[in-house]
Amino acid sequence: MSNRFDDKVVLITGAASGLGQASALQVAKEGAKLSLVDLNNEALEETKDLIAKEAPEAEVLLITADVSDEKAVKNYVQQTTDHFGRIDGFFNNAGIEGKQNLTEDYSSDEFSKVVGINLNGVFYGMKYVLEVMKKQGSGAIVNTASVGGIRGVGNQSGYAASKHGVVGLTRNSGIEYGQYGISIKAIAPGAIMTPMVEGSLKQMGGDNWEEAGKEFVSTNPMKRFGKPEEVGSLVAFLLSDEADFINAAVIPIDGGQSYKY
Ligand code: NAD
Repeated sequence: MSNRFDDKVVLITGAASGLGQASALQVAKEGAKLSLVDLNNEALEETKDLIAKEAPEAEVLLITADVSDEKAVKNYVQQTTDHFGRIDGFFNNAGIEGKQNLTEDYSSDEFSKVVGINLNGVFYGMKYVLEVMKKQGSGAIVNTASVGGIRGVGNQSGYAASKHGVVGLTRNSGIEYGQYGISIKAIAPGAIMTPMVEGSLKQMGGDNWEEAGKEFVSTNPMKRFGKPEEVGSLVAFLLSDEADFINAAVIPIDGGQSYKY
């Protein structure tokens, strides 16, 4: 395994579970020093234990923060630079799905909550991390969008609005910051089996959620869910120097789902 992240500092939000945790593990195995942010303190500790087992050399800083709170975001960026002195890679990933509902039944509070975390949280993250990266003259950012950010999925007003917004922010800021040696990209995962997708299937199928899952993936060209570690590999590549010329781009990782109609 090449050590693409030796001496590099990687900051990850939503690091206590799913895609954030898998990506943390991947870059830790490749030499990164990690600043891991999540709302869920206990699960963050579990992620740290997991990393200690699989990448014992990795230095890990844990920060409990709500990404929808601008002050908390400013603070997690400050804590990271106070501790490590720099930020080379930023996986701007924390997000929630929200309730599934027709638009007319989608509550305005739910809409604000989902947009507050998935879109405002990503904006705040970029705003404060870009300041650091611009001074360094280098850095890579990967924002987590979704297939729901590039296609209509249905029953997801808040999620769709927020993830399409993440795509817009990625394209806009990528164009602005390329000249400072910074690349900004988004990933658009399809259904990857994480606690979030389990929750989504439970909304669809209740106790029969596993059956609902089988039916759900039957329409995927590859007839399966993606694995968090597959996303972890993609994120590690996109944050590494190898992907420096990939900028303002949105990369699907969905078994081909978003190209099917
Ligand atoms: P997950 O629920 O397993 O993990 C999300 C993590 O984010 C959790 O640890 C949670 O505590 C944290 N989090 C939630 N709200 C937060 C907040 N306000 N502040 C800080 N942390 C917060 O979900 P996941 O599947 O790993 O999802 C990660 C990202 O990937 C999300 O943005 C999600 O929308 C996106 N995504 C996931 C899939 C998928 O199929 N799993 C598909 C497309 C996009």
